This record gives sequence, structure tokens and C-alpha cells, in this order.
Amino acid sequence: MLKTDEDALKLIQLKAEGVLQSDLWKLLDVDSRKCSRIVKKLLDADLIERIEFRKNGIKTFILRAKRRPVDPSQMLAGEELIPCIGCDMECVVIECHRLLDWMYQLAICGVSE
Ligand code: SF4
Repeated sequence: MLKTDEDALKLIQLKAEGVLQSDLWKLLDVDSRKCSRIVKKLLDADLIERIEFRKNGIKTFILRAKRRPVDPSQMLAGEELIPCIGCDMECVVIECHRLLDWMYQLAICGVSE
């Protein structure tokens, strides 16, 4: 699986309520066409499910991870734990600087093994 695919899966797995596909490509910093290819791969691998959703009258999809045991190493960027664990802030994923900082750390360090 390519790193961008893994990052997409991680982001989707982090949010029990799912991630809008229209937000995912912005979070991954890829264009919507590439995001669609990533989503298709994750769907084909049976790792996520996709539910049609309308946001402001525009059709998009909610992407949810299929339930699987959590691999603790997937929650670490180097030694930094994903900020969503225990977070009680009002969540707007696309605007969350804590998550973006963590993802930046992930891009530098990669996933802990
Ligand atoms: S606000 Fe940020 S850190 Fe908190 S759950 Fe949402 S994305 Fe995670």
C-alpha cells in the first residue's frame, strides 16, 4: 500500500463517525481525482465503507473504516501519540491544527514499528 493510501486509511480509522470524501483530499493534500483512486483501492481491499451523504445540497460520501483490531503503532508519529485520543475539543477535522501538526510529524518520522 502506498504511503498516501496508508495516511488516508489512518485518517478514516481515526474518526468513528467517518470522514467526508470532500474533506479527505484536502487533508491529504492531493487532488480529488487522486483521492477517488485512493478511496477505490481502500474499498476494493474491504478496509472502508462509503455512504452517500449530502453537504449543503452537494453529494459527497462519508468514508468509514471497517471495524478491525487497532494496531497501537498506527497511533504514533515517531513517539508522538495522535492528538485525537482523549480529545474533548469540538471537532472540525479539516481545521484542526493539532491533527495537522501530528500529520506533519508523521510525514517526517513515519509510523513507529
Ligand atoms: S479536534 Fe483535532 S485532535 Fe480533537 S478529535 Fe478532532 S481532529 Fe482529533
